[in-house]
Amino acid sequence: MSALSPIQNRDISYHLHPYTNAVKHAQVGPRVIERGQGIYVYDDQGREYIEGMSGLWSVAVGFNEPRLVRAAADQMGKLPFYHTFSHKTHTPSVELAEKLVQLTKGRMRSAFFTNSGSEANDTVIKMVWYYNNALGRTNKKKIIARNKGYHGVTVASASLTGLAPNHRGFDLPLAQMKHVSCPHWYREGQPGETEEAFATRMAAELETLILEEGPDTVAAFIGEPVMGAGGVIVPPATYWDKIQAVCRKYDVLVVADEVITGFGRLGTMFGSQKFGIEPDIMVLSKQITSSYLPLAAVLLGDKVHSVIARYSGELGTFGHGYTASGHPVATAVALENIRIIEERGLVENAARMGEVLQSSLRALNDHPLVGEVRGTGLIAAVELVADKNTRRPFDPLGKMGAAIFEKAHEHGLIVRGIQDSIAFCPPLIIDEQQVHDMVGRYVDTLEDVRSLAD
Ligand code: PLP
Repeated sequence: MSALSPIQNRDISYHLHPYTNAVKHAQVGPRVIERGQGIYVYDDQGREYIEGMSGLWSVAVGFNEPRLVRAAADQMGKLPFYHTFSHKTHTPSVELAEKLVQLTKGRMRSAFFTNSGSEANDTVIKMVWYYNNALGRTNKKKIIARNKGYHGVTVASASLTGLAPNHRGFDLPLAQMKHVSCPHWYREGQPGETEEAFATRMAAELETLILEEGPDTVAAFIGEPVMGAGGVIVPPATYWDKIQAVCRKYDVLVVADEVITGFGRLGTMFGSQKFGIEPDIMVLSKQITSSYLPLAAVLLGDKVHSVIARYSGELGTFGHGYTASGHPVATAVALENIRIIEERGLVENAARMGEVLQSSLRALNDHPLVGEVRGTGLIAAVELVADKNTRRPFDPLGKMGAAIFEKAHEHGLIVRGIQDSIAFCPPLIIDEQQVHDMVGRYVDTLEDVRSLAD
């Protein structure tokens, strides 16, 4: 970048950024994003970008939906804040809780609100512990997650996350959180192993870990229906059936972290539907408000809800909650956002546009740098490799992903490089011509950085 502007310099001086190398940041300066429209955002130099990641996998309805602005303003004018502690409530939080339960077709029984996905998963851990204490199973506290799973960054939720950068330097993970292998057939499958056989091996690994730890110490298994931040990893065929069978056998709760996959991302309202997951607990966030305001929800099935409710009676309270749990403005915006998703058929659009996206990316399969194209619905990744035949990654790992992430800006495209996998997760409102435009900009970027492969 050329000489830095005053706002860039002030950012460097005063603002410590999440997920950012602060030393590099001071050298290169931030890109200042000023406004958004539909699937596009614009920087302060007037440059347009297709937001191929919906921000952070999150803006379903696009970047300037006036109905969400009105919903927020109306609620601000009426009741800008009230809490939901100690027998108080307000209409937006009630309506949203009811709506979420209805969307699960009654599979889930109640909703508990938090501000972020991390807090929601932190809440899940506490609920699982509380649940087992209520049942007198005081040793049943360990939670099993997966390598490359992403569940957030609080002390406890970062311990579920299976990514080294979230542990390194933070003295994590906590000892109660265990990890099994990432179900990535392309990388973890053995030569000649079918998807189904790989899934069987993954489930056997889970069972072995439960038996080694002792079933009376293992409380829950958590997973994203499709892994997002770990590299958009679609589970192998039969994976979720086999994993759930193991969990049921040892009375281990199944937690579906649908923070990315909820509200249509995979072309179904929830990812659980797509994979036949019958969760005891579901976690929702991001597309719940299109991220216009911070909000997350933990949905509980009756099995967990009824025990927690009863135990709160015994102990005198459920001693957990946030000032902004069920915030009236955030829940009002969520309700309007979900109305838009339903009225405009955005789940169906995600299914249709998902097919366009998946087939146009799969058309790149013969490209010499493309190792694997994966995804389902409107989420996808293209893994680039140094050697297509041996699947050898680049050295250093991530150099291609970083180069594409950077160079794509020059082509008016924002994507994410996860090591050398390039992730796509555009807003659910995207149309066919825009999908082709996005993939075209990606292909142009790939040509630009091709020389780096040598
Ligand atoms: N769970 C999943 C599956 C996520 O993708 C994320 C964020 O990307 C989180 C949890 C954490 O959410 P937040 O960043 O709102 O804390």
